[in-house]
Amino acid sequence: MKKQLSFNLKEKSAIRQLNIQADAFLPVLFSLKFGGDWSFKTRDLEALAVKEKITRYNEDIKEGYTMERVTLLVNPQLIGTEGRVLRLEKCGNKKERELVERPYQVELQAEDIILAELDPKSMEIVLRRIDGPLFFEGSAAYGVSHEMEHLEGQERSGKYLWEFDYRVE
Ligand SMILES: [Zn+2]
Repeated sequence: MKKQLSFNLKEKSAIRQLNIQADAFLPVLFSLKFGGDWSFKTRDLEALAVKEKITRYNEDIKEGYTMERVTLLVNPQLIGTEGRVLRLEKCGNKKERELVERPYQVELQAEDIILAELDPKSMEIVLRRIDGPLFFEGSAAYGVSHEMEHLEGQERSGKYLWEFDYRVE
């Protein structure tokens, strides 16, 4: 409990140092605390956090660690997309997985971009501001596209798993 409180204080201090609205930082906190991608919208602000995981594994000593990189985009704007990928997705707000189409690559610009890199080895979360535009590919692009849909408030609904057929060979 005491440790959690002190973590919250560190969080507040980091947000102050970054000079960012506390609301805009919320998707990063959610992504770090609960995992996955998050978006958040108020009357005058949209924020999106997308998480990428990078595992560094040393074959010789058979040890490694998984870095987590959360990219926060404040008031993001989609510049372009490339490709179309069919996939099943599970949205946190929905009960069932849905078949959707996502771009393979997305390019985005944003008013403010913060990178949060969590290193499980040093137990540090390094925050830094970067410039756009940014490119995302694969899983990160799917996540960005999913969250942008939430921000735009126009969620398409796809087909469900129970509409699939089994085929035994
Ligand atoms: Zn969702």
